[in-house]
Amino acid sequence: MTTDTLFRETGALLAEFGIALSDGDLPVGSPIDGSRIAAVQRHDRADLDRMTAAAERAFIAWRSVPPPRRGELVRLFAEELRHHKQALGRLVSIEAGKILEEGQGEVQEMIDICDFAVGLSRQLYGRVIASERPGHRMLETWHPLGPVGIITAFNFPVAVWSWNAAIALVCGDTLLWKPSDKTPLCALACNALFARAIDRFGGASEDLRRGLSQVAIGGPELGRALAADRRVPLVSATGSTRMGGTVAPVVAQRLGRTILELGGNNGMIVTQSADLDLAVRAILFAAVGTAGQRCTSLRRLFVHDSIADTLLARLQRAYAQVRIGDPLEPGTLVGPLIGEHAFAAMQQALAEARAEGAEVFGGERVLAERWPQAYYVRPALALMPAQSALVQRETFAPVLYVMRYRDLADAIATHNAVPQGLASSIFTTDLREAELFTAAEGSDCGIVNVNIGPSGAEIGGAFGGEKETGGGREAGSDSWKAYMRRMTTTINYSRDLPLSQGIRFAVDAS
Ligand code: NAD
Repeated sequence: MTTDTLFRETGALLAEFGIALSDGDLPVGSPIDGSRIAAVQRHDRADLDRMTAAAERAFIAWRSVPPPRRGELVRLFAEELRHHKQALGRLVSIEAGKILEEGQGEVQEMIDICDFAVGLSRQLYGRVIASERPGHRMLETWHPLGPVGIITAFNFPVAVWSWNAAIALVCGDTLLWKPSDKTPLCALACNALFARAIDRFGGASEDLRRGLSQVAIGGPELGRALAADRRVPLVSATGSTRMGGTVAPVVAQRLGRTILELGGNNGMIVTQSADLDLAVRAILFAAVGTAGQRCTSLRRLFVHDSIADTLLARLQRAYAQVRIGDPLEPGTLVGPLIGEHAFAAMQQALAEARAEGAEVFGGERVLAERWPQAYYVRPALALMPAQSALVQRETFAPVLYVMRYRDLADAIATHNAVPQGLASSIFTTDLREAELFTAAEGSDCGIVNVNIGPSGAEIGGAFGGEKETGGGREAGSDSWKAYMRRMTTTINYSRDLPLSQGIRFAVDAS
């Protein structure tokens, strides 16, 4: 594969989506070889302002479309995704560096959430509530909210947007997407496919065509402008805890709403009774998959002292067999890091680990001669003496900190003693241990798994985490409620006007 090949292939993929790029001021690189694969035009604040106005106008039209009809548009979008799954998955691999299998998996996740949203479009249920007043009926209805700002991270360049977009669309909202400036092509591709769905939807006004779904390309400054805009009642932001710490107060200051999906520092406890065959496979996928660049990647492993030597030996053998290389080649399990910054952060973390007395296996750069501008690493295992400050922070790279434990309650306490609260898991065949981990006194995370690793969630459940992970929930279950406004209505069908709480308040006005 030469640099030129990736450039040409990207152009061909974009053409398949109907995108013809002229030169822009934001160069886009591929982490596969560090080469430039395109350049796109950045948007400025004035552009964003126009887009927000268009999103408002489209909202006026979209909110009156019956939800099942809104679902029809999402169904058509899912058809486009099915049709272009290979191409979009490949673009994800080229732009974000994921192996093909995972690039395709992301698009499948988009299709899954669209299917979920289509069903949901007939199930935006409210309640009828018993009124304390005779001749009265009380009910709760859910209405569209407005334009939704969606800020996304580089590592899930298409799926995270779709979790928000599919649900927000059936809820009657319009979309303003600010993707990571590392992955703008994926965003343009998704929006081009969505435009095709609108074409097939039929009868969409010009306002809807323009403003239902838009992409604003730029860096943090554009994200901040989106967060500050009062016309955007909900900002769903996915990325680092640092980003969330900036976005949240800006939105809060104008009393807007946020869904925050921020950093994780995910743990797994492997108990004495665990099925080690399953555990080794799960650890490998969760710690090494996506080159350790998932928010749910496994970063902390707590192993019972009695099985630690056996498990570690097996893990080392498994790590040695992992094929690192071009993510577009079949058989590759670990692709590149997103860039030099990620590599430097990983090396810094490993240096700190060594200084703290850790024994470190792996972690070195590989394939540098073949791709001097790209950053491939051997995933690292660091046997830590304790859960230090280093272990408590998220390093977004394939570093797995391993610690031994003797007492499960202590292990759970240590597991919870980090600022993040996204995903967690336990490997055990002991019912008591499994129940303890999922009980109130167990894991404090949003995602708590038994005999499954912490990563690779299905869309049917609500996704998100506690503490510095931000507390937001997206995707399935009742996450849709965050994208709507709740209306409580009391209807008096009697000939009297009783007040609640039995209050008497009257004058003789006859
Ligand atoms: P990042 O925080 O650097 O960027 C994420 C997005 O936020 C980008 O679009 C970026 O332009 C924007 N942004 C950055 N600073 C901003 C600011 N001050 N104001 C407004 N917008 C701003 O994150 P990244 O490097 O792209 O992604 C990796 C991080 O994202 C990791 O911490 C990972 O755990 C997290 N992540 C979390 C989830 C989740 O669901 N919890 C999912 C994916 C990634």
